[in-house]
Amino acid sequence: MRDWLSHRVRVTPDATALLLASTGDSWTFAELDEMVAETAGHLAALGIESGDHLGVVMETRVAYVRLLHAAMRLGTVLVPLGDGLTETELRAQAETADLTALVCGAETERRAVDATESVPVVSVDSPTTDAASSLSDVSPETVAPASWDLDDTQLLLFTSGTTGDPKAVRLRMRNLLSSAVASAFRLGFDPADKWLVALSLHHMGGIAPVLRMPLYGMTVVLRSEFRAGATADDIERYDVTAVSLVPTMLRRMLKKRGTLSESLRVVLLGGAPASTELIERCRNYSVPVYPTYGMTETASQIATARPKEAFRNVGTVGRPLYWTEVTVLDETGTPVDGDETGELVVSGPTVTPGYYGDDEATAEAFCEYGLRTGDAGYVDSAGRLYVLNRVDDRIITGGENVEPGEVVDVLRSHPDIRDAAVVGVPDDEWGERVGALVVRASEAVTRDVVEEYARERLAGFKLPRIVAFADELPRTVSGTVKRDAVRERLEAVGEETEAEP
Ligand code: ATP
Ligand code: MG
Repeated sequence: MRDWLSHRVRVTPDATALLLASTGDSWTFAELDEMVAETAGHLAALGIESGDHLGVVMETRVAYVRLLHAAMRLGTVLVPLGDGLTETELRAQAETADLTALVCGAETERRAVDATESVPVVSVDSPTTDAASSLSDVSPETVAPASWDLDDTQLLLFTSGTTGDPKAVRLRMRNLLSSAVASAFRLGFDPADKWLVALSLHHMGGIAPVLRMPLYGMTVVLRSEFRAGATADDIERYDVTAVSLVPTMLRRMLKKRGTLSESLRVVLLGGAPASTELIERCRNYSVPVYPTYGMTETASQIATARPKEAFRNVGTVGRPLYWTEVTVLDETGTPVDGDETGELVVSGPTVTPGYYGDDEATAEAFCEYGLRTGDAGYVDSAGRLYVLNRVDDRIITGGENVEPGEVVDVLRSHPDIRDAAVVGVPDDEWGERVGALVVRASEAVTRDVVEEYARERLAGFKLPRIVAFADELPRTVSGTVKRDAVRERLEAVGEETEAEP
């Protein structure tokens, strides 16, 4: 197999490959192919060859797309690094990934140079420092497309670093190809699709459609930065049919524009749990939402629900994709019975062979049933998956396990509770007590109301014993709840409650 663009250009050379949202400029597959051949030629002239680790730190721009497909043409391993990382983070990732060279743009040159010592830095623009050279300084060589084996590593992609330092996930051609195929089986695919990319290209959700564009023969609509209103307008203007978003982005777009363009057939929603409110809003406004659960280690989707299924079973991420199998394990590492909750373990051809340069982390991540996701959840009798929270967020109270996500789901189902976060609050007697920070829609929702509502729906040990209210949950920029901040709030309330006679 050669790079996917080489194959595509012989099938539909005149179809549109790429459209830049900010200017409306577009390129056909034939044009993109020429641009990619040139970039690959420049890289080859610099001595970059098959098997090398080619780092890239760049904003989302056409040059990035060229580089990504040029890497596949040359047979090199692409290593996307976050353009928003601090110097220390960038340095750490560049070191972990054993880069042969680091490609940057004018906008990231300073940081690329500062973060590396012995690695050559190459700019796709005119370099502004002596420490970087220009990609186009050398005359391009003619490159014969490299031939790929399914076992070859194509991508090293860093995880988000939610639970520790980001890990460099090795993704083989097999992982990327099976993920692309299984995704198309679930979402359906149409060469006339126009997929808007608003997520960063150094995360799976952003890079996946750009990689798959030649495979599907579809158009990628590129947007360099996310702005809720402007991105919603792009979708309308360019008749975009598909978009991947994280819940915060979708929430903000709906808030700004009410609903989204009717041109959309797929809104792939993942990366974090979607609230009941958000899914219901999609139902009411006919937004074709596909709630999805995925991770870097599985080259994106593990499970995805179709809109009808998502609207009927709010909270589900649907069934696993075609080849993917999910096993739920209890704490002893044994598969659970029926719809019990436990750690989700995933296996199939999309699963990474492991972390680059970290055999210890790799060994820890795998068990006989596959890759341990570190996420807790359950599978209902129809085979639909529900993801609750990270296993590490599990609360242990008086020796009993409580998955905070389960309590959150119950609280959120109250018509006058808009949102809730549930964490374990340290307690001398119980080890931890269940605490809930609640965002209410009405003052009528008092502590008593919350406790009463929960008591009717949850076992005694799962009941929130400390309840506090807030106007909004403390969240990180990416939209995940800041659990430590929630815990601090609840600890303060806990002391107050105890001080009462
Ligand atoms: P790190 O592995 O470095 O701690 P990370 O796990 O956040 O970071 P990613 O691979 O970007 O890095 O994210 C995958 C994780 O995102 C999943 O393991 C899961 O915890 C969370 N996630 C993704 N989709 C969903 C979803 N639909 N519902 C709940 N959680 C989700
Ligand atoms: Mg992870």
